[in-house]
Amino acid sequence: MSLDDGNNLGIYLDRICPSCGVGNPEDADNCIICDKDLNETVLFLEDEFYDIELTRESLIEYRKNFFRTRRTGKVKKYSLNKMEKIVFGHPITRFSFVYNGKKEVYALKKENYTSLKNLMIKTGRFKELNP
Ligand SMILES: [Zn+2]
Repeated sequence: MSLDDGNNLGIYLDRICPSCGVGNPEDADNCIICDKDLNETVLFLEDEFYDIELTRESLIEYRKNFFRTRRTGKVKKYSLNKMEKIVFGHPITRFSFVYNGKKEVYALKKENYTSLKNLMIKTGRFKELNP
């Protein structure tokens, strides 16, 4: 939509804050509710069992409850530099890696899996053996 579109009111609260889940205007630098720096988020994925935030340094999991309606408050943070043996389980949309000697597995929706995989390739974190 162009800026001079007459129907464009210019306010879209579709930039979801990864930390508290509130919608923010697209050009917001900090969350209007919790003041999180929104510019540090590279990718934010809302999935079935968790929401996943990717920043330049970390991958953060916000766990959701059994009914997938809200978050449990459980948050796991992984430093990207310490993630080893990253695998994208084609054709199953599963993403796994080894962290501190432990294997972590995330089953993701197809579109989230693809977004995360493409970003990991683009940033050099993951290389496809058989592209
Ligand atoms: Zn927030």
